[in-house]
Amino acid sequence: MVSIKGSLKKLGRNTQAVALRTTDKHLRLAVTGLAGAGKTAFISGLVNQLLHCDNCEGNRQLPLWEVARENRLYGVKRDLQPDLTIPSFNYDSAVRTIKSQPPSWPKSTRNISELRLAIRYRPAKGLLSKLTDSATLYLDIVDYPGEWLLDLPMLKQSFQQWSAAQIARTSIFKHSQYYAAFIDALSSIDLASTANEATLQQITDRYQQLLQDSVDKHGFYYAQPGRLLLPGELEGSPVLAFFPLIHVSDEQYIALDKSASTSFYHTLKQRYFEYVAQVVKPFYHDYFAKFDRQLVLVDCFTPLNRGNEQFDDMQTALQAVMESFQFGQSSLLKRLFSPKIDKLLFAASKVDHVTRNQQGNVLSLLTQLVHQSQQHAKFEGCEVETMAISAIKSTTHGMVKQNGRDIEVVKGLELASSQPITLFPGEVPKSLPSAGFWLQQGFDFVSFSPRTVASQQPHHADFEHIRLDHVLQFLIGDKLK
Ligand code: GDP
Repeated sequence: MVSIKGSLKKLGRNTQAVALRTTDKHLRLAVTGLAGAGKTAFISGLVNQLLHCDNCEGNRQLPLWEVARENRLYGVKRDLQPDLTIPSFNYDSAVRTIKSQPPSWPKSTRNISELRLAIRYRPAKGLLSKLTDSATLYLDIVDYPGEWLLDLPMLKQSFQQWSAAQIARTSIFKHSQYYAAFIDALSSIDLASTANEATLQQITDRYQQLLQDSVDKHGFYYAQPGRLLLPGELEGSPVLAFFPLIHVSDEQYIALDKSASTSFYHTLKQRYFEYVAQVVKPFYHDYFAKFDRQLVLVDCFTPLNRGNEQFDDMQTALQAVMESFQFGQSSLLKRLFSPKIDKLLFAASKVDHVTRNQQGNVLSLLTQLVHQSQQHAKFEGCEVETMAISAIKSTTHGMVKQNGRDIEVVKGLELASSQPITLFPGEVPKSLPSAGFWLQQGFDFVSFSPRTVASQQPHHADFEHIRLDHVLQFLIGDKLK
């Protein structure tokens, strides 16, 4: 029998080059999560590991990543990104910031961005291994704010239904000192009178201030429309100049429907539909539908520090985020955009914040958060996994004696004071906390500065990590066989 390699030899040089080129593969990996979940740190840490990973070191630094463990990895390089209209993920600047003296964290994600890596490896089996000794996987990593996914329900809501849904959030809005100013501004206009851009923008500014304050100062998560919080390139544009009518009754809507088409009411309704048509739909159509794999990062510690209401709001926001990954045949998303994500990973980020014996609890808490939503709708056709990770490990573990007992602690440089601290940050609940739980909770998850990078060793990543190799194996391992 003539072997495939033998018959290839008979082909002309050009034909062989084409055959080899077709052995290259592409994969689009999207990374998301709510603000502060750790997206920027994750991509910076992961890319840093990959760029320093080759046959000699890969199996030591990323032992659970099969291609590295089996010594089949030739190396990873940055490559020109394919989409010229998406901003580039600023990897160099992020790494410079983390390695600066004193080290600090890079700026968080505020917009979509992208970076391409070329992973050169030796195929292990199948036709590919017979055709060639080396193949390349082009990995596009796309970073985008999870808040953008909170807009999904707007695809099927009218302006009135959307406004009514925001009324349910007034108890959260009331925490903010800007709530009264927004209500005053809303009440000051006659919705049936002729609209003008300046007034629309003024009231939108108040609503934006209210959303921003609820998130930044009061620690809540859910905010709609998502782009008002993180507008990206749409900052200040009229398509974002609308707000919910949380003071209008059903009877008033009937009367307002009869107002002139130039009225505030009809203009707001129009803006809402334009936002859905020009911002929400294009995101799903142009970007989301092209993702192959998705990582959702979840910071479980910050909402536990903040309290019951904020934790519940994080859960609501996370469930809303998950709706975008429920691709059952009957789902709206499937019908409109045919998404093709076939692997979905939820990862609890920053687990270097807690002692090793608590990392299992973090994983169990995240798994419950994810599975609670799975009871309502299945992630059909999508392999789902949960993990607990740290992209840039900033603490070390230690043991201290307390009352004659050895207890596990974490040590690091506290972000706020820049002082070294040693602490036991508290027990992470294994399951969703009950109301009673909050009365006695005593968390103190402090934020840490990144560690100073020791002098660079060749082929050695700058940062330590927890389970990034596990992440790589789940998300791209099957493409490197
Ligand atoms: P983004 O908004 O999702 O882009 O979040 P960032 O990546 O900017 O992370 C927000 C903050 O979380 C950072 O400024 C760090 O303080 C912290 N952080 C992120 N990843 C890690 C990690 O692996 N370990 C530790 N200790 N802190 C982290």
